Amino acid sequence: MTKLKKSFGNNEVLKGVNLKIEAGSVLVIIGPSGSGKTTLLRCMNLLEQPTEGTLQLLHYTLDFTGNKKPDKQTVLDIRKNTGMVFQSYNLFPHRTVLENIMEGPVIVQKKRVAEAKARAQQLLAKVGLADKADAYPHQLSGGQQQRVGIARAVAMEPKLLLFDEPTSALDPELVGEVLKVMRELASEGMTMAVVTHEMKFAYEVADKVIFMDNGVVVEEGTPQQVLQNPTNERTKAFLSRIE
Ligand code: ATP
Repeated sequence: MTKLKKSFGNNEVLKGVNLKIEAGSVLVIIGPSGSGKTTLLRCMNLLEQPTEGTLQLLHYTLDFTGNKKPDKQTVLDIRKNTGMVFQSYNLFPHRTVLENIMEGPVIVQKKRVAEAKARAQQLLAKVGLADKADAYPHQLSGGQQQRVGIARAVAMEPKLLLFDEPTSALDPELVGEVLKVMRELASEGMTMAVVTHEMKFAYEVADKVIFMDNGVVVEEGTPQQVLQNPTNERTKAFLSRIE
């Protein structure tokens, strides 16, 4: 993305962000509350429409100059190819775990039910929940629900997977099981952008870390550079507060 901006009314939340995510790499986004991390993530799958700048995604180059809007088909295509995992899981409460995972492939991708089911079962096994296929979300712990959330996003075979503070709502003892699934996805070459406060995860898994403050990328580099040897005072202050 180049010079990407997003305003809500006259509140400019993203003030010209330049960013590149290499295929197969993991980007971790850190920064204080209100700095624009979620908005940046939501611009990447067009859940928010940027108000200026350009975005290169899949084979598209989208120009938002003057709040120009991409056509509906393009937006749909980008949404289909970018999965999102939310802090609050957002599972369908009245569907079983398996049905939650099958929903996208069957309804959006028009996959055959049998095929979608087999794939959903595989994914459940992958996230360590093979025995929970017929359970309902409320019967699961937060960590289990989030692992279903990840399986559901992966079932759509996204080219880019976005995580918005995926472990922030979890009790501390459940964080590890979710991060483990994310580590596995990263090691399999999934392209990921992750907003998180889990610095150990960022340090070990990220290829690139960006520190955002007040709508701009203040510092960017490898985890070693940004987390261990930050040069910007704002990054230093932020890291000293959270570690
Ligand atoms: P947090 O860590 O608290 O989630 P964040 O860095 O993700 O913060 P954003 O959620 O992107 O920050 O919010 C940045 C700013 O944009 C905030 O001032 C917020 O009030 C504003 N904002 C976000 N979404 C909207 C919206 N839909 N309408 C109006 N303002 C919004």
